[in-house]
Amino acid sequence: MDRPEHHCGVVGMALSCNAANSIKKSLRVIQHRGQESAGIALFDDHIRSVRGMGLVHEVLSGREFESICGNTGIGHVRYSTTGSSSAENVQPIVVSTSAGELALGHNGDIVNADKIRSKLQSEGWAFLTTTDSEIIVRLLANELTQTTDAVRAIKNTMRILDGAYSLTLMIGGRVFGVRDPMGFRPLCIGKVPNGYAIASESAVFDIMRGEFIRDVAPGEILEITQSGFTASKVPCPIHSAHCMFEWVYFARPDSIVDGKEVYRLRKNIGQKLAEEQPVSADVVVAVPDSGRGHALGFAEASGIKYEEGFMKNRYVERTFIMPEQNKRDEGVLLKLNPIRSTVTGRRVVIVDDSIVRGTTMKKIVEMMRRAGAKEVHVRIGCPPIRAPCYYGIDMKTRDQFAATNRSVEEIAKMITADSLGYTSVKGLVEALEVPESDLCLACLTGLYPSSIPGEKMRFQQTLEVHD
Ligand code: AMP
Repeated sequence: MDRPEHHCGVVGMALSCNAANSIKKSLRVIQHRGQESAGIALFDDHIRSVRGMGLVHEVLSGREFESICGNTGIGHVRYSTTGSSSAENVQPIVVSTSAGELALGHNGDIVNADKIRSKLQSEGWAFLTTTDSEIIVRLLANELTQTTDAVRAIKNTMRILDGAYSLTLMIGGRVFGVRDPMGFRPLCIGKVPNGYAIASESAVFDIMRGEFIRDVAPGEILEITQSGFTASKVPCPIHSAHCMFEWVYFARPDSIVDGKEVYRLRKNIGQKLAEEQPVSADVVVAVPDSGRGHALGFAEASGIKYEEGFMKNRYVERTFIMPEQNKRDEGVLLKLNPIRSTVTGRRVVIVDDSIVRGTTMKKIVEMMRRAGAKEVHVRIGCPPIRAPCYYGIDMKTRDQFAATNRSVEEIAKMITADSLGYTSVKGLVEALEVPESDLCLACLTGLYPSSIPGEKMRFQQTLEVHD
């Protein structure tokens, strides 16, 4: 089934005043996590929502947005991926049930969604969408008809779900943040003026003039109110599976993800990369923006001067998700242009966070040569991506990866670089300062933290209860 991805951003807020503008502002802070659609749901007697395709400031404006209010609410931004762009996937999902109203914002991918859906359909349940988020809402609504204890209902729902989910959730006017038991995708809690907030990334609290309190722990359910929060937890596996790609590429450099500032870790990775893959060159340049931290670390450790090598046009849409190769090629040219005084006549090291298909890097190397670079060396923070992600990152099929059936030398040839080097998996783990057993490295190793049909598991998980 062609299921939409949920590499998205979520926010939840409980304030002593109208939360509409604060949620909107927070969503703008995490706009990088999703540019396809945006939405907000607020509780004021009942739940009302404004949702649509577009950027946050486009969707959350005008009369409809001005007319909704509520002291508690949630918001969502959604990432666009090839083949899954449709209005039915816009979140938050809002449903009315016999147990009251529910609203849900979801970041992640439920790996057993198809199995759950088939089972429920065979029992006579009907679904309106193909989204795994609808499954979560339906399961929760069903649980809420059996118990009035909301936390118990959430826990029972979590027992059925397998995979990656960081949620913000409203049950009537109550706001919850929920993180899956392996903690794939980030989620954190902060104190903000007039109340408390839950968000995918901590940069939200800075921009709100608030304070980051802590990450939501794997398996944790937090309820926030205007004056505080309460926490409970489901049993969790001994090991977590934090997605390494959040630090490598996806999250903002100024965010703290699972206790670690993203920028600092990107610099760590760049330093490792320089140690492991040294090169003689005149200048280090970054592919903006996500390559910057990696490149600065590389420059620091190698002693090679860092300079700005590209002008980036911020107003060009994302090339990564363009479905056709020629559009992606054109997109890269529109987005990046070399700064000649940095490049001409010099031996250049280009540092970027990752190579997925290699489309971007091939164009960049060509660009550097046209600008007169004497040599073009490429260094990549993320080890070669070889296996699909089932937990919410848009890297789906093995045949799309540059590293599938190619040695590093062959990839270098493909992107026409004079040399190519990646950080090793071991080097990456050291740079992230997280035990390997608590990271999801599946896209690098092909060993998955949970059972996926046709794929290998990293190790057998045993359950440990810490309630
Ligand atoms: P490519 O190798 O041409 O597929 O593109 C890789 C570049 O796209 C990387 O340098 C990242 O900056 C960016 N990127 C990597 N993974 C993703 C993703 N899942 N979604 C969007 N952009 C990505």
